[in-house]
Amino acid sequence: MRGETLQNIMRDENTTAATAATEAEAYLEAAGGELTRRLERECLPCYVSRMLDEFGCDNTLRWAKHWRDACAPDGRGLERELQDRGGFCDCGIGYNVYPDHMLHEGDKPPPACAGVFHRGSTAPCSR
Ligand SMILES: [Zn+2]
Ligand SMILES: [Zn+2]
Repeated sequence: MRGETLQNIMRDENTTAATAATEAEAYLEAAGGELTRRLERECLPCYVSRMLDEFGCDNTLRWAKHWRDACAPDGRGLERELQDRGGFCDCGIGYNVYPDHMLHEGDKPPPACAGVFHRGSTAPCSR
């Protein structure tokens, strides 16, 4: 009986975690789906600046992590690397890590990413 209860609790926890993940996905979907997808060979700063332009910064590395998940799921060092360079949130990356590579007011239409060829590289493109 006790074992069964514990199993139920664990099942509940799994369900909660799965629901949270689904809700995050649903949020991104609602926020634009296609729009949040990283383009083929799109570099980190181009992707982040494109997302900031659309959705803004939520004071985390949300878009940097999204980029990382899309092209370098093993790149766990990315957050540390960005934070070491002063990028504590997505717009902080723009100010401190890639100051010459982010969109600025009046950059319309935004210049397209020239693409990076080394998968998972955080180097900016040659735009
Ligand atoms: Zn920010
Ligand atoms: Zn680029």
